[in-house]
Parts: sequence; C-alpha cells; structure tokens
Amino acid sequence: MSSPAPDAGPGPSRLVVLAGPTAVGKGTVAGRMREANPDVWISVSATTRAPRPDEVDGVHYWFVSDDEFDRMVAEDELLEWAVVHGAARYGTPRAPVEEALAEGRPAMLEIDLQGARQVRETMPGALFVFLAPPSFEELERRLVGRGTETAEERARRLDTAHEELAAESEFDVTIVNREVTAAVDELVALLKSGS
Ligand code: 5GP
Repeated sequence: MSSPAPDAGPGPSRLVVLAGPTAVGKGTVAGRMREANPDVWISVSATTRAPRPDEVDGVHYWFVSDDEFDRMVAEDELLEWAVVHGAARYGTPRAPVEEALAEGRPAMLEIDLQGARQVRETMPGALFVFLAPPSFEELERRLVGRGTETAEERARRLDTAHEELAAESEFDVTIVNREVTAAVDELVALLKSGS
C-alpha cells in the first residue's frame, strides 16, 4: 500500500523550496534557472488564474479550470495548494516531484509561503529558501514596474507581502535578490551541495 518516500533530504536528490514575497523576482529567478541550468528540475504548478500574454500552458503553469482544480484536490494529486493573494488557487502536482527526486535530479518548487509551510509538514528534509528583496521600497518598485496587476491587485499583493516578509525566520536560508544571476548562482550552489 505504501509508496516509497522520496528522498528529499541531504543526498544526491535535493528538493529546494523557494518562497518569498510577491514581485521579489521568484518567477524571474526560476526562469533564469530553467535556461541556465536545465539539469535542475523545476515544478510546473497548476493554477486557476488566467494566463498573462507571454505565459505558455505547461511551461509557466498548467492553467486549469476551477472544476479541474477541485478534481486534483479531491484525488490528492497536489503536494500542496493555496489560495494566493485572496484570488486564484495554485498547487504543486505531486507525481512529477516524486519522479524527479526518484531520478536523483535536483528539484525546485517556487511557491508561496502557505505552500512552503505545507511542504515543511510533508517533506521536512527539503531545504527552505527565502528570496528577499533588498528593501520594501524596491519590492513596491518591482511590482509597479512589471505592470501586470491593476492598482487594486497591487494593493492586495503588497498587504500579503508584509506578512510574507515577516516569515523569513521560518526558512533555512535567505537569498537577497539584488541581481538575478547572482541569486541563481547561490541557489544552484544550494541545490547541488546536497547538505
Ligand atoms: P503569479 O500569479 O504572480 O504567477 O504568482 C502568484 C504567487 O503564487 C507567487 O507568490 C507564487 O510563488 C505562488 N505560486 C505559484 N505556484 C504555486 C504553487 O504551486 N503553490 C503555491 N502555494 N503557490 C504558488
């Protein structure tokens, strides 16, 4: 009845959970990681949010309906899931994570704080990395600068960001995202250190 537990702890197949406040650059860091380090497996989340113009189904997210998300939850297909920013639902499909770890690939999840807390319960051997902005002002600048949210949505995300920043101490490691290449280098070192 029991399936083998994935080895998320120290060893060749390390799982890194990357979280941090809205607009800190998690998506950019994950994108750069995907390009520069194809040997690192990065989870593709399911979401009920609508795609942005440059987003591709199956690459950035699996864009699913509410009914499909309900089905995934009911059938226990998600390792974790959460309503993020009081809006859409986001979740990590479980099977691909387990497969990547079983293959011994360094694996990364880029998820929100609520999701990271859930993974800490189920996979305590993972390494939890907090991506921090250089300052709150810089975070606001990045959120306004990317121009993908309405003013109302931005205000909601900044509210969430205050709570998310306060959670830094729950994480094993903090990386300050001053410059994306440097942040990716730090992450790669952690993913491959296996300790
Ligand atoms: P965005 O809508 O800007 O792509 O992402 C919004 C937030 O959802 C980000 O903080 C991102 O980390 C989070 N997120 C993306 N995928 C997942 C997931 O699978 N689970 C959880 N809990 N959060 C996610």
